[in-house]
Amino acid sequence: MAERMQILGVPVDPMTMQEAVAKITTRTLEGKQTFVVTANAEIIMMCQENPAYKEIVSNKADIVLADGAGAVWAGRYKGYEVPERVAGYDLYRNLLDQGRQHEMKSFFFGGSPAIAETAKTKVEELYPGVKVVGTHNGYFKDEDVPDIIDEINQSGADYLFIALGAPKQENWIMAHKDELKCKLFMGIGGSFDVLAGKMERAPKWMQDASLEWLFRLYKQPSRFMRMMALPKFVLKVIFSK
Ligand code: UDP
Repeated sequence: MAERMQILGVPVDPMTMQEAVAKITTRTLEGKQTFVVTANAEIIMMCQENPAYKEIVSNKADIVLADGAGAVWAGRYKGYEVPERVAGYDLYRNLLDQGRQHEMKSFFFGGSPAIAETAKTKVEELYPGVKVVGTHNGYFKDEDVPDIIDEINQSGADYLFIALGAPKQENWIMAHKDELKCKLFMGIGGSFDVLAGKMERAPKWMQDASLEWLFRLYKQPSRFMRMMALPKFVLKVIFSK
């Protein structure tokens, strides 16, 4: 694998999708815990404003992947070799698909009530034999957390996919990783919503043309303020060179 990149002070691993899946699978089979962050421009910008979050992404995550056109562009602009974009949603689906060979068990945590359950039904259709051993919605109180942790541990899950949005999902992983027996911890944002059909993914041609952000803006204009992170990110990268 090529050298770890530094994008606005955040380390990012220039891996292909296949390398990421292989590394996570191997580490899981070896009984090692792996905390994965799929870092898009918005996450890298959050790190600029939130030092505690930057510390988690930079020093606590085991693998940080370039998710999104912005992160891939920034790496290449700074002269690194970035093989491809590794979107969180795609990695999550590939892990479910390829995890079947090793009977990996997954737990889906997050999203509004019933969404994780619908995502479970959907992946069972897509990947016959996949083992989703539990689900829990993402709207909970602090006092519910010990029960949620028990539920995840009792399920015997290897992979924990957490959809609480950034930075909440990474903060939650950091706070509770040591109490959990799972091997993979990965925040996946709105992925259950996409699988459950509540949110649409951009068509392939738009993804290939690095225009997924435009599609999301068109579908959810309320994201406008959040998406201002992208032009700010581009300018910051240009001026930091
Ligand atoms: N969410 C949740 N609990 C919360 C806040 C958010 O379960 O307290 C879920 C929300 O229902 C959505 C996801 O987290 O499914 C966040 O999606 P977002 O679009 O913010 O994530 P992105 O894909 O942009 O990272």
